[in-house]
Amino acid sequence: MSLSKKLSEIAASPTLALNSKAKDLSAKGVDVVNFTAGEPDFDTPDFIKEAAMEAIRSGFTKYTAAPGMPELREAIAKKLRHENGLDYPGSQIVVSCGGKHSLYNVFQALCNPGDEVIVPTPFWVSYSEQVKLCSSKPVFVGTREENGFRLLAEDLEKRVSSKTKAILLNSPCNPTGAVIDRKELKKIASIAVENGIYVVSDEIYEYLVYEGEHVSIASLGDEIRERTITVNGASKAYSMTGWRIGWAAGPADVMKMIGNFQSHTTSNPASISQKAYLAALNGPRDSIHRMRDEFRKRRDLIVTRLNEARPISCIKPHGSFYVFPNVSACLTGGIRDSMSFSRKLLEEARVAVVPGSAFGGEGHVRISYACSKETIEKGIDRIVDFLKKRS
Ligand code: PMP
Ligand code: GLU
Repeated sequence: MSLSKKLSEIAASPTLALNSKAKDLSAKGVDVVNFTAGEPDFDTPDFIKEAAMEAIRSGFTKYTAAPGMPELREAIAKKLRHENGLDYPGSQIVVSCGGKHSLYNVFQALCNPGDEVIVPTPFWVSYSEQVKLCSSKPVFVGTREENGFRLLAEDLEKRVSSKTKAILLNSPCNPTGAVIDRKELKKIASIAVENGIYVVSDEIYEYLVYEGEHVSIASLGDEIRERTITVNGASKAYSMTGWRIGWAAGPADVMKMIGNFQSHTTSNPASISQKAYLAALNGPRDSIHRMRDEFRKRRDLIVTRLNEARPISCIKPHGSFYVFPNVSACLTGGIRDSMSFSRKLLEEARVAVVPGSAFGGEGHVRISYACSKETIEKGIDRIVDFLKKRS
C-alpha cells in the first residue's frame, strides 16, 4: 500500500541529522569538533529551571488553554510592546511547541495549494519543507555574498507574482548571519502592502545582533502590521532549545485559526515549559546580554581564524551564531561540492560542518560558533591542516 505522497517528498532535517551524527561519533569515542549545532551551548539560567521545578512541585502538570496560558500570552504581549514596538492583545498570540511548530502553524493557516511563498536564499532548511507540506511552492530569491547576504527589496520584488501569498523574512539569518536594516525593511513592507502579501517574520535570533539594530517589520506601520505574523521563541534567547516553546503574534483572524488548528493537533505546549518561559520573560535579561557578548567575541575569533585558512574566505556577519564561509576555492581534487567537502572534512579532519547546499548556498559551509573558544581554535587548526595536506 502506498504511503503519503506529500510526506514521501520530505527528507529529515539535515541540520538536526548532522548534529546527531556528530554527537553519535563523539559518544563512540571519536574526537569530533562539532560545528553543526544550531543551539546555544550555555545552560538554561537557574531561575528558569527553578520555575519549572516549582511548576512540577505545585502540580501545574495538566492541560492549559490550547493556545497557551493567558498569563504567558500577556507576558509575551508585554515583551512585544516594550522591546519590539508592537501592540497586540494576548488573544492575538499563540504559544506552540517551538518556533518551528509556530512557523508550521502559520504556513498552514496562510497557504492554499498552488500558493507561492518567497524565501530568500541561503535559507534555514525547514522553511521550504514546511511550505511544501501546504502543497504550496517556495520561490527563492537570491542574496549576494558581497552584500553581506542581505536581502534587497528590488530583488524580492522581481519574484512577486499573482500567486504570491507570503514573504518569509529571517533577520538575523540562519545560516548567513545577515541582518536586514530598517531602510530595506521599509521597502519590503511597501512591496507587501502594495501587493496584498503576508509577511512571516522569523525573529528567533533577535537578541543576537552585533552591528546595527534588530527591527520588527510589523512595527513599521499599521498596514504592514495587519499583514505580518511575527514568530519567535525561547530556544535561542534563553538557551531553552529542549523546552520546546515558540510563539506567533499577528492578525486576529490568522491567530484564531492557528489556535483552532493547534487545539486539534498538539493542544498546548508543555505546561511546565510554559511556566519556565513565563519566569524567563518576567525575570532579568542579563543572561541574554552575557550570551550575546560572548557570541560576539567568538564571532570575531572565528572570522579572523577562517580568513587565515586560505583559500577559505569568510565575511563578518552582523548577527545570529553562524558564519557561512566561502569554500568554493577548495572544491578541487575529487571534492566536487559543499557536500563532499563536508564529508571529507569529517572523515579526514574530524570536523563536522553543514554543507551550504542544505541551505541553497552551494560553495559555502555553515559553521556554528555556539561552542567554546577552545573548540573554535581546535576546529580551525584542523581545517588549516586539512587544507595544507590537500594543497
Ligand atoms: N527559525 C530559525 C531560523 C532557526 O534557526 C530555528 C532553530 N531550529 C528555528 C526557527 C526553530 O527553533 P525552535 O523550534 O527550537 O524554537
Ligand atoms: N536551528 C538549528 C539549526 O539550524 C536547529 C536545528 C533545526 O531545528 O534545524 O541547526
